[in-house]
Amino acid sequence: MTAPGRPLEARRLPAPRPRPGGAVLETVASEVCGTDVHLHHGKLSGVPYPIIPGHVSVGRVLESSGPLADVEGRAIASGTLVTFYDVYGTCGACWHCLVARAATRCPHRKVYGITAPASDGLLGGWSERIEILPGVRLVPLPEGIGAEDFLGGGCGLPTGFHAVERAGIAMGDTVVVQGSGPVGLNAAIFAQLSGALAVYVVGAPEARLEAARTLGADDTLDITRVPASSDRVAWVRDRTRGRGADVVIEASGNPAAVPEGLEMLRDGGRYVVVGQYTDSGDATVNPHRQINRKHATVLGCWGYEFSHLHRSLVLMARHNGRFRWRDLVTREYPLDRASEALADMERLSVVKALVRPRL
Ligand SMILES: [Zn+2]
Ligand SMILES: [Zn+2]
Repeated sequence: MTAPGRPLEARRLPAPRPRPGGAVLETVASEVCGTDVHLHHGKLSGVPYPIIPGHVSVGRVLESSGPLADVEGRAIASGTLVTFYDVYGTCGACWHCLVARAATRCPHRKVYGITAPASDGLLGGWSERIEILPGVRLVPLPEGIGAEDFLGGGCGLPTGFHAVERAGIAMGDTVVVQGSGPVGLNAAIFAQLSGALAVYVVGAPEARLEAARTLGADDTLDITRVPASSDRVAWVRDRTRGRGADVVIEASGNPAAVPEGLEMLRDGGRYVVVGQYTDSGDATVNPHRQINRKHATVLGCWGYEFSHLHRSLVLMARHNGRFRWRDLVTREYPLDRASEALADMERLSVVKALVRPRL
């Protein structure tokens, strides 16, 4: 991706060799997500174009420089099917890392496929090989989990997990998820695993809402059929004895969802904003009515840490029969048709798309 708005280009680069402590993967597949569309529109600041997109990927270990091990110290042999925590450079030494303990806000943090310039190497998954920098933690896929299962969740898996962790769902809570993309769908899954009594998903289009119901959502609301915000709030209140939901998770990306979601929230409830990953503009809230008098807890949720990837993946391995993540993969594209993947993602004609270099 050479620059915002420019066609994608296939370029041939020198095959990477592992740096000491690093490795090289042969790519199996990499996800296509809403973030890639935003990157292509230049809606994220600080992106060092040209970049190789693809932040969450699966590959086989081709080569390493020194022994590789997982987070529990178990050796990773070459040929092992792995993913990796797609963040590098987090310093562990700055104010954000050490005092605020908010490592996802470390100013040195870089993300594969997003803030890694192509001049630094093959640091994106839309590529036949991926360089694993020293210190980047490889995660072998658990027994029974294939690339399609994991990438069916994609970055939405740990992000949805993180949002649910932030929400602090109590057993018996009623949860509304605004947005039916991968983050919203995964949040709906983890809300159920957290003991929610009921989970409602508000979003569009119908194919994504159908996926939400298949994944256990108790009911869904199609925002294209119910265009008035007040009617959508009434729909939630009808299902919560007039009180509003205990927890509302915003995963829609639309700023207008925030004041609407605060109206869907009960007094004393918890509201998590995870969908506003790029700047889509402002929204107006009434601080008196929607936050202060409501006694609301409002939380932001940025990125995810290694623990979210690890925990969401072991939960996937445990619950892959109940929640069929791989069914969320709608289409796969070879490298030379990655532009088509972006276009399909933009029109929401796919839930999850994969780029597979050797398709
Ligand atoms: Zn730091
Ligand atoms: Zn993503």
